[in-house]
Amino acid sequence: MSHVFHRSLTQDYPTAIKGEGPYLIDDQGRRYLDACGGAAVSCLGHSDTAVTEAIREQVGKVAYAHTAFFTTEPMEALADFLVERAPAGLESVYFVSGGSEAMEAALKLARQYFIEIGQPRRRHLIARRQSYHGNTLGALATGGNAWRRQQFEPLLIDVSHVSPCYAYRGLQEGETPEAYAVRLADELEAEILHLGAENVMAFVAEPVVGATMGAVPAVPGYFKRVREVCDRHGILLILDEVMCGMGRTGTLFAAEQEGITADLITIAKGLGAGYQPIGATLVSRRIRDAIASGSGFFQHGHTYIGHATACAAALAVQTTIQQRDLLPRVCELGEGLQRRLTERFGEHPHIGDIRGRGLFQGLELVADRATKTAFDPERKVNARVKQAAMQAGLMCYPMGGTIDGRLGDHILLAPPFILEESHLDEIVDKLDIALRSALGSR
Ligand code: PMP
Repeated sequence: MSHVFHRSLTQDYPTAIKGEGPYLIDDQGRRYLDACGGAAVSCLGHSDTAVTEAIREQVGKVAYAHTAFFTTEPMEALADFLVERAPAGLESVYFVSGGSEAMEAALKLARQYFIEIGQPRRRHLIARRQSYHGNTLGALATGGNAWRRQQFEPLLIDVSHVSPCYAYRGLQEGETPEAYAVRLADELEAEILHLGAENVMAFVAEPVVGATMGAVPAVPGYFKRVREVCDRHGILLILDEVMCGMGRTGTLFAAEQEGITADLITIAKGLGAGYQPIGATLVSRRIRDAIASGSGFFQHGHTYIGHATACAAALAVQTTIQQRDLLPRVCELGEGLQRRLTERFGEHPHIGDIRGRGLFQGLELVADRATKTAFDPERKVNARVKQAAMQAGLMCYPMGGTIDGRLGDHILLAPPFILEESHLDEIVDKLDIALRSALGSR
């Protein structure tokens, strides 16, 4: 018996012993095409030599220097790199070890900001149903995914959840996307007024929703309206780009495509591409200045914040992506992947929707296409697809979402940016095999 407390105690896991570009290889020599980057992490694939070399070099110089004593060259350089490319106003970066930690930092920074500026009643958060922001308690309380929350409820902080922007199920008959965006922004504003704007701290959302919905972008104009509502009521906008950021949707920050900026943006996953655990919270000038001229200190130190080796790895990942000009390639490959998925599965009786942006694509699995009825959760369709895909040599990320309180299923694809066109065919062919095996032949 393994002495590791694995995330599932009822499942056996193959042992990954080697990575080769977009493939992982297990101890039996089986090769798996990593079409989800683990969980949208491995954007440069596995065993990249430039990143490996940068890590080796940094470990040889200074692997770790506690941030209570020192700053380091890679941490400063990575902050410069990110701020130069970030949406307007985001001028400093707080480095942590992953996405949940980045969200915790964002929530505490928002809270501290309002305390520093003399508005201590602002502590209430608004997020969206069908969202995931991490597994630590603050981040878990923020997310609206019932399946992940319910066994730990009541959670420690109060969060209201409003409707996500989810055209496939949310757009009403005859409603235009513009009218849908207005309706959702009105819903957010009504919730703010219901709580009393003077009590509300921030609205939190993923620009393209990942784990709970399967790569769902908002309709055009939605985020612009959300930004306006937040500004009207003095509320901070926190964008969670842990999954969709760092080039995954074709631009370094997903917010760029919405034409807005945020007060705080969280990133992780693709930042270090799995070579080292790292996340970060980008902080607006306004928030940083309020803290700098107030208490001057953010009480959120973890032992490994700003880890020198992790920063060096992330800097190497990001400069490699830039030097190889991979972001236009993400758009090209993303279009190719979506076209192939639509050609192969567009009429599939159990695929209700194919959506996404860049190399962040999702398929929604339904029992009935016409009525959009989700599969009975008892059938554990997403788990079956995942298992069948692994047998076919494909890693994809099938998950159950929450549709009106029920579980629904989707598959998330988030492959590395280094793919060749032939890998796109391989993804679609293997997914077809997995779906036939998990759902029966068409
Ligand atoms: N936010 C989003 C949008 C995520 O997708 C995730 C991870 N799936 C997190 C936060 C939490 O990140 P981590 O698992 O690195 O703590």
